[in-house]
Amino acid sequence: MATVNKNFEKLASGYLFPEIARRTAVWQKSNPNADILRLGIGNTTEALPPAVCTAMHEKIDALSDRATYSGYGDEQGDTYLREELVRYYDRYGVCLQASEFFISDGAKSDAANLQDIFSTDNVVAVQDPAYPVYVDSNVVAGRTGLFDKNRGRYNGFVYLECSEENGFIPSPPKEKVDLIYLCSPNNPTGAVMTKEQLKGFVDYALENKSVIIFDSAYSEYITEEGYPRSIYEVEGAQKCAIEINSFSKSSGFTGVRLGWTIVPKALECEDAKAGLLNSLWNRRQCTFFNGASNIAQAGGFAALSGDGYQQSRDLIDYYMENARLIREGLERVGLTVYGGVNSPYIWAKAPNNMPSWDFFDLLLDSCHVVVTPGAGFGPAGEGFVRVSSYGHRENVEKAIASIEENLKI
Ligand SMILES: *Cc1c(COP(=O)(O)O)cnc(C)c1O
Repeated sequence: MATVNKNFEKLASGYLFPEIARRTAVWQKSNPNADILRLGIGNTTEALPPAVCTAMHEKIDALSDRATYSGYGDEQGDTYLREELVRYYDRYGVCLQASEFFISDGAKSDAANLQDIFSTDNVVAVQDPAYPVYVDSNVVAGRTGLFDKNRGRYNGFVYLECSEENGFIPSPPKEKVDLIYLCSPNNPTGAVMTKEQLKGFVDYALENKSVIIFDSAYSEYITEEGYPRSIYEVEGAQKCAIEINSFSKSSGFTGVRLGWTIVPKALECEDAKAGLLNSLWNRRQCTFFNGASNIAQAGGFAALSGDGYQQSRDLIDYYMENARLIREGLERVGLTVYGGVNSPYIWAKAPNNMPSWDFFDLLLDSCHVVVTPGAGFGPAGEGFVRVSSYGHRENVEKAIASIEENLKI
């Protein structure tokens, strides 16, 4: 008698993007001639760096000849790519070994899968608001109680509130927690942690034998000096932190699929001496995963080195120029905005204490612009919307012009 995983019934979120699509479709039906301008989705829109395309073409040529064909590669990823990542981190003064890198098909799956190596009774803390996979994957794994509708939170979870008052950077938890998800630069708020703020969490984790899962998917979007791109820039972090990152946002690999996770050999927790967590993750990957696409890995190598790196930087500059146009446009209409300086996301406060979804409807109805309601990322996101700079320049310009012309607040 098969029975289903009842934890799925606890999931309260996951309705965010379908609900946006539903409302947008309903609106389009009654306004069939209107051109909808989408600034809602965190998905890249510009072409891959040419050097990445060349490298992937060359890999396909190699695969089409039996003399140079290769099948399954190492589950942990190709050595040449892991060694290139070691050099990449070395540029920020972070010293890691190739055997601490695990190449994957993206950071989202790693964020969900990493909890496999931790006990189900671990208490989890997340930033609120947060990228939904951190919460949802732990709900499915059974690390929470039921969703409390009144509080907008899962019982048993610790929420680290990110608000205007704390600049959207929370303090470490007051209580004892075991796993802490952090994302900086942050999706959705666009806030970036200073080394000092990150050190607060590292110190907390060392003291409590907790493990931080640090998502640095937007590290390449840091444009101002002095912010850490890797948690390992903080001393002691290799003992208490796992880092996940991806080529998705830095080089446009959202559809190509390639990411990496670092589990340092020095990482420890309550009942694991240095080395054990690294070998558990290795075991997990070898058991459940057969390695990332070799074509994608060839592209990833090209994205980190030489022309490919510069072309990736150009891609980011393009999105960051969009971010500037959005930020300045929203400020001109009198909105209070955060983010968009070291992050592709602008976190805009809804005017007149309007709830997120009401502001979503207002922007859609009066300006034909789609954004993402902040409440979809957690209860502390209420009253904000996330505006994404992923889009063609001409669409971004149209959307901002429409907001300037039509938004009455
Ligand atoms: C986009 C994004 C990622 C990247 O996920 P992939 O699976 O590598 O495409 C990871 N973390 C956050 C917070 C993101 O917004």
